[in-house]
Amino acid sequence: MQITRVEPIHLRLPVVNERCDGSQETLVVKVHTDTGLVGIGEVDSSSAVARAIIEAPVSHKICRGLAECVLGQDPFEIDRLIHRMYEGTIFFGRQGAVIQAMSGVEIALWDLVGKATGQPVYKLLGGGFRKTFRAYASILFGDTPEETERIGRELVTQGYRAVKFGWGPMGQSEASDLAHVRAARRGLGDGVELMVDAGLCWDTATAIRRARQFEPYNLTWLEEPLHPDNIAGYGRLVAQSPVRIAAGEEICDVAEFQRMMDVGGIDVVQVDVTRVGGLGRSRRIGWDSAERHRLCVNHSYKTGINIAASLHFVAALPNTHYFEYCVEQGALRQTLTKQRFPVVNGDISVPEEAGLGIELDEEVVAKYRVA
Ligand SMILES: [Mg+2]
Repeated sequence: MQITRVEPIHLRLPVVNERCDGSQETLVVKVHTDTGLVGIGEVDSSSAVARAIIEAPVSHKICRGLAECVLGQDPFEIDRLIHRMYEGTIFFGRQGAVIQAMSGVEIALWDLVGKATGQPVYKLLGGGFRKTFRAYASILFGDTPEETERIGRELVTQGYRAVKFGWGPMGQSEASDLAHVRAARRGLGDGVELMVDAGLCWDTATAIRRARQFEPYNLTWLEEPLHPDNIAGYGRLVAQSPVRIAAGEEICDVAEFQRMMDVGGIDVVQVDVTRVGGLGRSRRIGWDSAERHRLCVNHSYKTGINIAASLHFVAALPNTHYFEYCVEQGALRQTLTKQRFPVVNGDISVPEEAGLGIELDEEVVAKYRVA
């Protein structure tokens, strides 16, 4: 089998606002082959930037677009192709958007290999340790504590047994931070797990203070209280926090994840398969976290492609049992794949079909495609 074309497809809703919801636009990647099989991947990045990184023509030997690096190659040779993309972009890559863009191509390669062999991707990755995961509903805080409480109550009636509130008003003031977390717990009641995503809003001393103040609300974890560059701050916070500290979704680099675990000391390692270079690198980071006896969870705020790829990823790890399941409303998240990944009794299941186990709704692709 040979790769004949890499097709980045930029999808975007007619109105995109500054709300912290990454599924208002996305970059889908189709990898076409001479057999007619097509693999599907997704990128979580600035979609226009990632698209250019894939399509860019060669400038010189270590300054090439990702598509050129894999054209004519065998999609089964995933490690070699990741290496070709990494080496072909050294001049402008190694971090950030280039690694994020690689994710889309790499995930499509796994989908292709799965389709060609008739195997679900989690088996190709060496899983599955588990087939169902506790789906925690992931949503932004309400604008007011009353709205946060109402959202929490509504999610419990929908059957979720864990809920994460994030970003929005967090960081406005001590009184407001506490009021929102108190309201979240009140809305959920005592029997439902609560996570809080602070959205990078505090300095180290404030984060240590909030972690202590949140202790009565029995958080499963406190997520991204600090800027991702403040690795030493994470180390101080973890040493003093009575609550588990989670982070990792801003990180693309394997060595940086290792520093965040070894110096930052984080308890929960959050990996986004559409940001870290795809499933192979996700697996590597996941096993690094397993060897350090940390909990690993997916980060997922994109479409059904990311959800499927993330399910295969976590199924292939021993140290995970939660699944981030975004419940923000949005046309791309809810309709791009024909599969809807239902949550039943609070749990989500890993696809068993060949490849990622997804099919795109091409009408949705055509409707939101950016020329
Ligand atoms: Mg987060």
